[in-house]
Amino acid sequence: MAIDHKTRYTNKYMANTLVSGIKPSGSLHLGNYHGAVKQWVSLSDYTMFFMIADYHALTSPQALNKTAKYDMACDLIALGVHPECLFYQSDVPEHTELALLLSMITPLKWLERTPSFKDQLDKRSPDWITHGFLGYPLLMAADILLYRATHVPVGTDQLPHIELTREIARRFNHVYQTDLFPMPQPILNNTPVFVGTDGEKMSKSRDNILPVMGSESDTLDRIKQMKTHRLRRNDPGVPEKCSVFSYHKVYNPDFLSIKVACETAAIGCVDCKLTCAQAINTALAPARKTRATLSHSSLDAGAKRARLHAQETLTQVKDIMKL
Ligand code: SF4
Repeated sequence: MAIDHKTRYTNKYMANTLVSGIKPSGSLHLGNYHGAVKQWVSLSDYTMFFMIADYHALTSPQALNKTAKYDMACDLIALGVHPECLFYQSDVPEHTELALLLSMITPLKWLERTPSFKDQLDKRSPDWITHGFLGYPLLMAADILLYRATHVPVGTDQLPHIELTREIARRFNHVYQTDLFPMPQPILNNTPVFVGTDGEKMSKSRDNILPVMGSESDTLDRIKQMKTHRLRRNDPGVPEKCSVFSYHKVYNPDFLSIKVACETAAIGCVDCKLTCAQAINTALAPARKTRATLSHSSLDAGAKRARLHAQETLTQVKDIMKL
């Protein structure tokens, strides 16, 4: 009796498999940490795969920097990401092969309508509206489906990519009459955005970052330079309008005292910033100490583990597609 795909490929990894990734933009800043990494290390009860997405980095005009890749790996490990769950995407070539195979069933219009593509159309030079850039969400779908992930931790801006992944998985399962791919669910990160020192989204290109692994003096210098709305020492402040206070709320257990002191002008901004930098430096000291002991990280163990899972899925996909 012929065995159909549904019977042959039961979802071995159906329960609680989680995938996420981060572009290798160099040393992590606090925006990266609060936007993704803190959530990664807080999750348990999942089979986890975390990738440093170096293929994805190539969709930007800036050249990939190997030192940046290695720095990011060391930062992530120092922050508590287990090295066996962590790998460089390009060390697992099955990502690209699955992306190619999925591209055969993905309508072009699905990719053209993704918000990240539409948003960049007017901002990028036409020479950088590349095939790879259009296919970026498809590669992301392959990143997720390769591990038959059931859960993907994301920010709200990434939800359209998860929906596209689900559409691609649904279409593959329908076209090939299988249930190989589960429908991944987003795990939303509801942490408020950790803003940059200018109050905007934290980003290296805006030069408004606080590096997670920076020195104590660097953290203090960056916070000292932040602008506040109080013109004179005796002016009462409005802490909720101040980015320094938003850092206090995260790092200073005594932030309510700062709130009152600001509102009554009992504290000046210079002292308030000093307290803020001390709170951040104290919280990050253990990770910084660990980071100082790490150098270039090969992530071989993580890649080996990831490839075992990836190869199994890819073998099944190719069999289903009659390759
Ligand atoms: Fe901001 Fe602190 Fe100055 Fe208030 S006292 S405006 S919270 S830096």
